[in-house]
Formats: sequence, structure tokens, C-alpha cells
Amino acid sequence: MGRQFFVGGNFKMNGNINTIRNIVQNLNEAKLDPNVEVVIAPPSLYLLLAREHLRKGIEVAAQNVFDKPNGAFTGEISVDQLKESGITWTLVGHSERRVILQEDDAFVASKTKAALDGGLGVILCCGESLDQREAGKTIEVVTTQLKAVAEVVHDWSKIVIAYEPIWAIGTGKVATTQQAQEVHEEIRRWLATAISPEAAENTRILYGGSVTEKNCGDLAKQPDIDGFLVGGASLKPAFVDIINAKS
Ligand code: PGA
Repeated sequence: MGRQFFVGGNFKMNGNINTIRNIVQNLNEAKLDPNVEVVIAPPSLYLLLAREHLRKGIEVAAQNVFDKPNGAFTGEISVDQLKESGITWTLVGHSERRVILQEDDAFVASKTKAALDGGLGVILCCGESLDQREAGKTIEVVTTQLKAVAEVVHDWSKIVIAYEPIWAIGTGKVATTQQAQEVHEEIRRWLATAISPEAAENTRILYGGSVTEKNCGDLAKQPDIDGFLVGGASLKPAFVDIINAKS
């Protein structure tokens, strides 16, 4: 069994009731490759709206989750609250949260563990800055981010890794297919030694960073690219073309 292609849409802090309804309607009516797992991540305010209107077979993800079960944590949302609302996935460790909100590796790992323990799937984001890439530290940075999770999580079967070079996010500057494939291959090698050969074989590794309907075809052909995490383009009708990149 090969790895099922996976396409996530990260809406970030974009959209309103009307535009989210339109995106959902567009997806409901589109002809989507039935072999692709599709998950959309609207802002938390619209999670229920999306879940209510989205057709079965497309899942909804939170963009973030907290690592404590409940209590005095103003502004946060728990794993159980998501689960109860039919939200089956969460993003964790997106670079915008790591950089702007200063979430460190240990916090990202703790949230990953809490989400998995509570039965959510996790889209675990990792990626290097331009300075780190130019200093030849890409693999070191990415594996350090993943290692923090490996210290607290042993079962990676419900983790999807999203490799998102920070310099490619929202910049229109997509990594070349070769640059992306190289890092994905290294991540898979790391999984084989740090987790298990089965985890290396089965874990989906998505590419994210300025993916569009124009550049997704070549990326999708790479042996270690198992899908995409799409930001800007997931808000547009062409998201459907990215979902269907393999067909
Ligand atoms: P982008 O964002 O596709 O707009 O570059 C990707 C992401 O941050 O997940």
C-alpha cells in the first residue's frame, strides 16, 4: 500500500462567513480525486461552520490547539472541544506560530502529544529560515524540530509532516522540486532511524510554501512528496486543481 496523497488548506487568518461558505460550496461541488485525503483549516471561529456545511469525506483541521485539557487558559481551545465539534485534525508548529508567537520546539511537541493522545490527527509543520538554509543548516534545523516531538511521541501513525521552508511561505518563491525532494528524502531517512522503518515508509511528508495550481504537478511527481499544505491558493477555486495534482 502506497502512502495516500494528502492536501491540506491552511486559510490562516483569512476569510469571513461568506467567503468560507463559498469555499466549502466550491469543494462540495468539485470533482475531487477520490484517492486524495483533503483537510481544510479555517480560522477557529469558522471551524463549526465549515464542518456543518462541508460534505462527508473532507475533514476539518484547527490551525492550533492547546496542550492542557481545560481551565484558565484565555483564548485557547482544547483537544476535546475540537473532537466534540467534529474537528479531526490540527496543525501544530506552523512557522508563523513559531516565529511570531515564539512557540518553541518543546511546546510544539507537547501540543502534538496532547492532540494525538486525545485522538486528533496532527499536521506537524517544520522548516528553516533563509539564513539557516544559506548557512547549510536546513536538515539540522528540521530534524531538531522533529526530534523534540520524537522525545515525547513514539507512535507517528497519526502524524503528517509538513515541510515548509519559511522563505517560501507566502512569498511566491517556491522551493525547486529538487530542493523539496532532497529535504523530504532526508526527513524520511531521519524517520527510519529515529522512529522506525515502518514510520519512514508510511508517514506522509507534505510540501508547503507558495504551492499553486501551476507548480504542484512537478512537485507531486517527486517520490518523497506525499501532498501539500497550501496557504494562499487554498482560498481560491484553483485549490481543486492542487487537490487533483496527481490525476
Ligand atoms: P502559502 O502558505 O501557500 O501561502 O505560501 C503555506 C503555509 O503557510 O501553510
